[in-house]
Amino acid sequence: MGKLDGRVVIVTGAARGQGEQEARLFREEGAEVVVADVLDEQGEALAKEIGALYVHLDVGTESGWRDAVAAATRAYGRIDGLVNNAGILRFNALVDTPLEEFMQVVQVNQVGCFLGMRTVAPEMADGGTIVNTASCTALTGMAAVGTYAATKHAVLGLTRVAALELAARRIRVNAICPGAVDTPMSRPDPQAGPQGTSRALDGLYRRLVPLGRVGRPEEVARLALFLTSQDSSYITGQPFVIDGGWLAGVTVV
Ligand code: NAD
Repeated sequence: MGKLDGRVVIVTGAARGQGEQEARLFREEGAEVVVADVLDEQGEALAKEIGALYVHLDVGTESGWRDAVAAATRAYGRIDGLVNNAGILRFNALVDTPLEEFMQVVQVNQVGCFLGMRTVAPEMADGGTIVNTASCTALTGMAAVGTYAATKHAVLGLTRVAALELAARRIRVNAICPGAVDTPMSRPDPQAGPQGTSRALDGLYRRLVPLGRVGRPEEVARLALFLTSQDSSYITGQPFVIDGGWLAGVTVV
């Protein structure tokens, strides 16, 4: 028996990276999965491969969410889970960040998460689950990613409020806070595949991360599964750090 048998879960930003691994794992665990993304070619190919439904969804748009929810309900008759995973990252010092860039990141990371919960929760079956993808930078500062960190702090705030407001319907809402994970978002060289990335980042993460390596998207997917399944039945409103110990503290010797 799968951990998600009979459940229908929407995963945003699921064409690649962590979202892709979440979609794959959720299907393996018996869920019907809605793969939602703006990368149509990759998203459609993945959905075809794993037997899921692909929907084009720009998470920053109200009409996109309305259409996605309608498509999910049409295909599967219900929605039990949402993983707000879509996100973008921009590097800039705060004093150099153009307002347009700031608002672009807010639109995807923060507005996308808000609209997702606002649109899906009313249609979701009682006892459903929402997992919001925040970041380590939701809990600590990190130079050069101020806009991103601001939106990820906001995602945590939204998570806690939604957990309180939806608890009466037994809808649980939690957040994932990954450290560095080996996906296209964290790849300095877009041409490098996972192996190339790991090599390039190995030295850096050996020094920075107590476990001495970058995280794998499959590892984040397993945390998303835990928070989407009954294994986490008494947990809501919480951030879950998955970072190889990065936030545990600093080493001075
Ligand atoms: P990724 O870039 O591989 O995947 C992000 C996905 O989101 C892509 O498929 C992209 O097309 C999609 N997306 C972007 N804008 C969208 C939009 N407007 N509407 C719908 N989809 C959109 O990166 P990833 O590492 O898999 O990121 C997944 C989540 O994890 C993000 O929220 C990211 O902020 C978060 N995160 C990543 C890391 C990391 O080191 N990779 C660390 C902490 C948190």
